[in-house]
Amino acid sequence: MHIVLPDAVKKIIKLLESKGHEAYAVGGCVRDSIMGVTPHDWDVTTSALPGEVKEIFDHTFDTGIEHGTVTVRMYGESFEVTTYRVDGDYEDGRHPKEVTFTRSLSEDLKRRDFTINAMAYNDERGLIDLFDGAVDIESGIIRCVGEASERFSEDALRMLRAVRFSAQLGFDIEEDTKKAIKELAPTLSKISAERITSEIIRLITSPHPERMETVYDLGLTAVFFPEWDEMMNTPQNHIHHCYDVGHHTIEVMKRVSPEKTMRLAAMLHDVAKPICKKTDPKGEDHFVGHPQLGADMARDIMRRFKLDNATIDQVCCLVRHHDERPIPTRRNIRRLMSRVGKDHMPGLIELKRADVYGQSDYKREDKLSELDEIEKLYREIISHDECVTIKDLAVSGKDVIKAGFPRGPMIGRVLKELLNMVIDDPSVNDRDLLLKKINEWSKN
Ligand code: ATP
Ligand code: MG
Repeated sequence: MHIVLPDAVKKIIKLLESKGHEAYAVGGCVRDSIMGVTPHDWDVTTSALPGEVKEIFDHTFDTGIEHGTVTVRMYGESFEVTTYRVDGDYEDGRHPKEVTFTRSLSEDLKRRDFTINAMAYNDERGLIDLFDGAVDIESGIIRCVGEASERFSEDALRMLRAVRFSAQLGFDIEEDTKKAIKELAPTLSKISAERITSEIIRLITSPHPERMETVYDLGLTAVFFPEWDEMMNTPQNHIHHCYDVGHHTIEVMKRVSPEKTMRLAAMLHDVAKPICKKTDPKGEDHFVGHPQLGADMARDIMRRFKLDNATIDQVCCLVRHHDERPIPTRRNIRRLMSRVGKDHMPGLIELKRADVYGQSDYKREDKLSELDEIEKLYREIISHDECVTIKDLAVSGKDVIKAGFPRGPMIGRVLKELLNMVIDDPSVNDRDLLLKKINEWSKN
């Protein structure tokens, strides 16, 4: 097996070895190279102690020195060089609480989570694959290094990492590994929200977001996302639907772009359906109010996940408006844009289209052509620069004050009224016309 190392990595390894140490590329970069995927970063593992690493290289940073990691700058790029180690308990995903350095590569590889992540390579000694990681890559299997339940007891996050890697790589989880997860799933409660979220985001933005079903089947969502379990357990008896809420949601997730905001919005758009569900006397299910309640629930969930506010706001907006279906006239779409915010429109249209594909094919063509029409009108409005927000008005708050309105909430109300007029008829977004209007109003 030959792996083409970047020149900088070759250089780092060569320098370390020339001083009598061992050094290898290790982990994700070896796995990705074997799979024919370009690694997004290259990690180096070495027998040299952190102090020794720092002596050998001119430019280093103490990124995680207490865990043995030194960042080395080489040819304008950064590389993490970590001393062979044996880990204690993990506290944050990358950094175990206490570590013991070792001079043995095999000890270092043994502490790693999965066979596919536990290979090392350098040009001199080739691939070091003590746990048949290459075979598992060939057969597409996620398997723990060593005894699964033991490894999950050391660090419960590994259970979620197993599903995350299976989603990113399209691999299956080996049977014993799955069994161990089912048994130990409740222990995921010991793991911090930040670590869980980081894995879940990588999972849902992967080519296989449908593996959220595996997270559920293995009993993991029950621990940190019980709302998901409710969704998986809520049938929808309605002509527009052919899946329960959970499977519908998965179909929608698969059809939006693999990007954090869109996948989160898809994942959460129907989160309130289980709570809102009412079955009518004919046996048909209805979910009145689920977008509004859903936006509130989505906010709580994403706060719990410790996501950033910008992401939370964006996702909540998409959840809140995902079910709106204005008759596609230019005026109605200006209104929609004003409610939703211009910037959210492309995401909203994308979500709505995916939502249609996740429903039964009843009236599907009609729903899709309606969305095409909405998108066309949206583009026209943007290209004509039509006013849909107070910022786009030909007058500002200053003009309203000048006309004699008292400072305070009144100013906002006047601007809102003007915006309403202008959204109804863009031709009145004319400075003189609007000033005249304000002056008229100020006299009443
Ligand atoms: P990615 O391409 O997603 O970065 P990766 O394999 O590099 O994949 P990281 O989370 O960056 O994954 O971890 C780097 C390496 O460190 C892994 O390949 C694995 O060998 C080891 N590792 C990381 N987290 C753990 C853990 N919780 N338990 C055991 N080993 C781990
Ligand atoms: Mg990595």
